[in-house]
Amino acid sequence: MNLRKFFNRPSTKQMEIINAELASVGNIEEKEANDHNDRDRAVCRSLNDSCPRCRSMDIVDKIARVQGHGEVHGDFSLGFGSVRGYSNTDTNGVNNCNKCGHQWKKYERNYQSRDSILKDWARYVEYFFGGFNSLGEDTVKMLMGLGVKAESISKLMDKHYSSYFSRKATLKLLRTKFKSVYDVV
Ligand SMILES: [Zn+2]
Repeated sequence: MNLRKFFNRPSTKQMEIINAELASVGNIEEKEANDHNDRDRAVCRSLNDSCPRCRSMDIVDKIARVQGHGEVHGDFSLGFGSVRGYSNTDTNGVNNCNKCGHQWKKYERNYQSRDSILKDWARYVEYFFGGFNSLGEDTVKMLMGLGVKAESISKLMDKHYSSYFSRKATLKLLRTKFKSVYDVV
């Protein structure tokens, strides 16, 4: 019996492999986040900087009070005592075209960070092992393609997956799909 594997106590060499894999996964995600943010920035710029009606680039930012989803629930007396219920009225940025006067909602940036993508990955791995195979399949296949070991993914889950419910993607289950670092070194 492989006692290191059983107790999950990596040797120095095995620890180095796990750390290297986590670093490389982190780099991939860093790049993915940067690519996403670059695309997002470009899309937002093109949607905010020219008028969809007349194509003019003479645009100014305006703040407008706009009605959100329509309804105001409960009693509302802004500024006096307690406010019951909630309001969907929201303040949003608005673009205003100086040429034709058209106004449209300002597109907000949707930033992603390396960690937010890693969190997504962890969630999809959990879906897969929690029985929602089709949801997590792409992520699991991609990680298998990268040759990431079960122990590295388990560490990634420790850091990026939290839930009130117990985790389904245990190391034991991960090893049914991913190679174990203990079997390769
Ligand atoms: Zn215009």
